[in-house]
Amino acid sequence: MPMFDYVLKGGHVIDPANGIDGPMDVGVAGRSIAAVTKDIPAESAGRVVKVNGWYVTPGLIDIHAHATGFSGAMFPEEMCFPYGVTTMVDCGGSGWRTFDEFNRDVVQKSEVRVFGLLNIVGGGMRGDVEQDVSDMDAELTAECISRRGDVLVGVKVAHFQGPGWESVDRGVRAAELSGTFCLIDQNAKPTRPFSEMLLEHMRPGDGVTHCFGYGKPMIGNDGKVKPHYIEARNRGIKFDVGHGNNSFSFSMAKPAFDQGFPPDTLSTDMHRMSLHTSRAVMTEVMSKFLAMGMPIAEVVRRSTLEPARQINHLELGTLTPGAPADISVLEFVDRPAGVSDSGPTGYRVMKTAGRLICQLTIKDGQIKFDYDGSTKDDWAETPSTDLSIP
Ligand SMILES: [Zn+2]
Repeated sequence: MPMFDYVLKGGHVIDPANGIDGPMDVGVAGRSIAAVTKDIPAESAGRVVKVNGWYVTPGLIDIHAHATGFSGAMFPEEMCFPYGVTTMVDCGGSGWRTFDEFNRDVVQKSEVRVFGLLNIVGGGMRGDVEQDVSDMDAELTAECISRRGDVLVGVKVAHFQGPGWESVDRGVRAAELSGTFCLIDQNAKPTRPFSEMLLEHMRPGDGVTHCFGYGKPMIGNDGKVKPHYIEARNRGIKFDVGHGNNSFSFSMAKPAFDQGFPPDTLSTDMHRMSLHTSRAVMTEVMSKFLAMGMPIAEVVRRSTLEPARQINHLELGTLTPGAPADISVLEFVDRPAGVSDSGPTGYRVMKTAGRLICQLTIKDGQIKFDYDGSTKDDWAETPSTDLSIP
């Protein structure tokens, strides 16, 4: 009886939680990681999967994507498994009034591990109700999160157009009451400047998403990261990419990166409108940071360990033996390429030496995506069957 169901052999493992960045084999038994070590003997494996030349990382965690509520929402499978994502967080599609629908139609039906941030608006991310301050109830939102902590990992505040701080203050209050964090997407207004939000209305651990969007410019006219962003980071505010269709500009991200202000977490803001034109899928978002000069180990850290920390699920985002066998195998395709940004800067391109693509996505030990058929037997060895049926 082999010790492992299969072994991923010959890859370059990057597991930031355990400080691993080098050649290792990974053994999987049942639903769990069983071993990460050099040279696991082939005899101990039911199957050996050769992953030479590829990166083996924890299953990617996308903490900002859309699977419910929002008009562009997509079912998780199609936007996650082909891009190495094993865990996604629906980012505020449902509120406390619509959580049951989200749970029934998405969480229970998806094979992707789906968590949610609950919208501070009871009716969720539906355009017609998002401006209704009377439906922003911190207590009821917190109560729903506390009751369904198996799915809900925080609060989302988004799209409020009013002049004041109601949505932010109530969202942060709901996070405080439920012991979670609040992720915020609000554009700055003269009546509610970003500096005040970052420094006075948010708590350490709360986050801003679309952090490199033009609607909330991090870079000032002098080409520098604005001082209140640096001050906010120093007080523990988190910065999430939330790429999307309208929210990621190289003209913000590149100077910020060059000035030592990388994002804490990479995420896609995945929805129908962002899928093709700006390629806001997880492997492409990672490739954009590689193109800007971020080392691969840091790109992986911000797509695995850091999002796991943010949602307080440290059993994920790691290859520690005993952890769920959620694994991504990524190939760096070494060929001149271009990666695109999004939004008001007009879908501009950054030329790059290559890009990451997903070769294998494994969730709970099961192969969910296998681009080159690495886990499969050759077609010529198909067993013969009786084909005489007319
Ligand atoms: Zn979003």
